[in-house]
Amino acid sequence: MKYFILFGPPGAGKGTQAGAMVEAFNLCHISTGELLRAEIAAGTPLGKQAQALIDDGNLVPDEVVEGMIESQFNSVQGVDGFLLDGFPRTTAQADVLGALLKRRGEALSGVISIMIPDTMIYERIRHRAEIEGRADDASDEIIRHRIDTYHAKTEPLINYYRARDMYHEIDGTGTVDEVRDRIFALLEKLF
Ligand code: AMP
Repeated sequence: MKYFILFGPPGAGKGTQAGAMVEAFNLCHISTGELLRAEIAAGTPLGKQAQALIDDGNLVPDEVVEGMIESQFNSVQGVDGFLLDGFPRTTAQADVLGALLKRRGEALSGVISIMIPDTMIYERIRHRAEIEGRADDASDEIIRHRIDTYHAKTEPLINYYRARDMYHEIDGTGTVDEVRDRIFALLEKLF
């Protein structure tokens, strides 16, 4: 089983590219953000706990997302691998993922990082807000806070995975098709 991390700042195009990747490489896409939004939509206790944090652009507690990831690993069958999107988001979560994979006798296959400049993050999120209507895309202040959180807590993962020789960076600028072709070329090498 392959385990890939799809990495990148908010608005880099992870969700868009994940759709093409899962189809072409028979992967299960696990987006912690999407799973959390589904919990909120269903009005579950977990969703209620997470909503205010997400709407303000803060991270939800580690245990919440770690439980979600493990239950997906345990329940999904018939795929050649998992594509983790939005997890891990901190080095502490990366340590937990490493331990979880080790317990299962598995290992990470690679980190695919889609990189775009901060100026483009704003443009892409504003465009997405018109289409998807996410509460956490609605105000410039919340977008700014998510970008700050990304730089402070998530970006250190780049060096974390570089040091483990797992980090592969893709230029996320250009058209959806151009970025997809760059990712597919990399995935073919990692498979
Ligand atoms: P995303 O769809 O990946 O942009 O995630 C939307 C929001 O869900 C984030 O801003 C966080 O509030 C929350 N979230 C998603 N994944 C995680 C994670 N791994 N750890 C903590 N919070 C998360």
